[in-house]
Amino acid sequence: NFRCRSAFKLLEIDDKFRVLKPGDSVVDCGAAPGAWSQVAVHRVNSAGTDPELPRGTVVGIDLLNIPHLDGAHFLSSHDVTDPTTHAKLLELLPNSQAHVILSDMAPNASGFKEMDHEKLIMMCFSLIDLAEKVLQPGGSLLCKYWDGILAQKLQEKLSSVFGGVRILKPNASRKDSAERYFLARMYRKPVK
Ligand code: SAM
Repeated sequence: NFRCRSAFKLLEIDDKFRVLKPGDSVVDCGAAPGAWSQVAVHRVNSAGTDPELPRGTVVGIDLLNIPHLDGAHFLSSHDVTDPTTHAKLLELLPNSQAHVILSDMAPNASGFKEMDHEKLIMMCFSLIDLAEKVLQPGGSLLCKYWDGILAQKLQEKLSSVFGGVRILKPNASRKDSAERYFLARMYRKPVK
């Protein structure tokens, strides 16, 4: 039983691209009410359900409250774009590193398509800063965006720090919505 039907988008993407592996550490950005985290807990075995497999870690972050879930740590009332959140995240992750960053974050829609698009793209750009702090080399980033004029800029930026970037539109995502996902893999940490 999933908390929200958004779970089916992540299941569909993960079935096809195998982003989440047992033992992985995952950061779930914009996690409330927790459906993606439910999928992640299951796929990385962070509740230790299968004793034969390595046990992963799931940390979810949201501005809203995220109800308790076995196998996940939640930072409720936390802003993903805030550096103090990043510091707490580093403490919760084994070796301060994540294999995967997931983001299904979305701002409250204003109804002005272009403004909402720009806001969400800016939030996605902030995930690239987060990646620089917590994502291990070779890691993956899956993030939701709303298509529009700035999508290509984001894609270019992702391509500059990841080995491969694809655009996904899961079947579980409404056909008439601008919702898309970038799946960026093989992270290369920029050298300072
Ligand atoms: N993936 C979730 C699930 O399956 O249960 C649903 C996520 S919902 C579509 C988007 C979430 O992003 C909202 O709960 C919202 O509060 C959160 N959000 C938006 N901006 C945020 C920010 N700056 N920091 C943390 N969470 C944010």
